[in-house]
Amino acid sequence: MSCPRIEVDLSKIRRNTETVVRRLGPRGIGVTGVTKAVCGHPAISQAMLDGGAAGLADARVRNVQRLRSAGMTGPITLIRTPMLSQAEQVVQSCEQSYNTELSVISALAAAAIRSGRVHGIVLMVEMGDQRDGILPENLAGIAQQVMQMTGVGLKGISVNFACLSGIAPTTRQMAAFCDLANEIEGVCSPSLKIVSGGNSANLPWALDEHATGRVNDLRLGEAILLGVEPVSGDHIGGMHTDAFTLVAEIIEMASVPPPIPVALIDPTTERLRLVTTSGVSSRMILAMGHQDTDILGLSIPVGSTLIGATSDHLIIGTPRSRLKVGSEVRFQMNYNALMRAMAAPDIEVKLLGDPPTRPSGRTQGEVEHLALV
Ligand SMILES: *Cc1c(COP(=O)(O)O)cnc(C)c1O
Repeated sequence: MSCPRIEVDLSKIRRNTETVVRRLGPRGIGVTGVTKAVCGHPAISQAMLDGGAAGLADARVRNVQRLRSAGMTGPITLIRTPMLSQAEQVVQSCEQSYNTELSVISALAAAAIRSGRVHGIVLMVEMGDQRDGILPENLAGIAQQVMQMTGVGLKGISVNFACLSGIAPTTRQMAAFCDLANEIEGVCSPSLKIVSGGNSANLPWALDEHATGRVNDLRLGEAILLGVEPVSGDHIGGMHTDAFTLVAEIIEMASVPPPIPVALIDPTTERLRLVTTSGVSSRMILAMGHQDTDILGLSIPVGSTLIGATSDHLIIGTPRSRLKVGSEVRFQMNYNALMRAMAAPDIEVKLLGDPPTRPSGRTQGEVEHLALV
């Protein structure tokens, strides 16, 4: 088997999706599976749908196009506001998109009219993450303008937390978001189909005792893929945290060399040795580096020490001597490591678990499976 590779247990992704779908369902919240960390990998996305995700969403048009090329025919949502230069492709490949700019919405409307479609608009509201979004006080005005355009239809509103700020949403912020949904409906009938309350960082809020109000959708990537809650990094009970494993191969095995002689005249060079290698008897060099993943997001095997990495080499101190050149070493990844490894051209993705899934076919019956609303 080729190295480095990512082994993906599709059944764990399916079961993680089932778990969140089952827990959120009674609260009136559906799950949209977010596929950006896996670059819209069709079989992984299909595992989310098989687990009961109501739809799929991605931040990049290229990932959506990959899903389309694999035969996914149902609605897919673009959850990053489209580039003006990509309006045409967005309308061709996505049922609906998240938007914050009227100029982009106009371009989407024009592109939709040219191709005889109606593109769905979900307005993204900024309520504290300080990333993208329309300020609450401007939302009603923009919603009204969207309602008046042809080629686009107002589908709903959305909010996002903890991406830029790293701060989880409060009950009060979520209540204010629900009030906004009511306000928009007061100004623009008919009712909003989508009231999307956030990402994996919203799970503690959504699963807490209190009512979840108007929110009827959460967009979940990290929770489904890695079984962790992003703000705390905590394992979510009942979820698999090992659906992905990164495997790399040892290309050199040696005893720990003596420390590099440091010329004490220059005090800055003294800081060059990143970690002490005491307790470590040998070091292994793996054929994988910064170009492949976020090295700091890898779980280093117990008892071993990360000595350092370069673009193509990963050096780990290890007390284990049975490893040799050609041996494989397995790592769990955090979100950053996963996202970069999935995008790395030299890493093969090997599917385990469920039989290789056929992307949702071209048949009518399966189209419904992808529908977001
Ligand atoms: C990335 C992203 C998500 C998914 O976030 P996770 O933490 O992986 O659940 C949801 N919504 C938006 C707008 C995003 O950019």
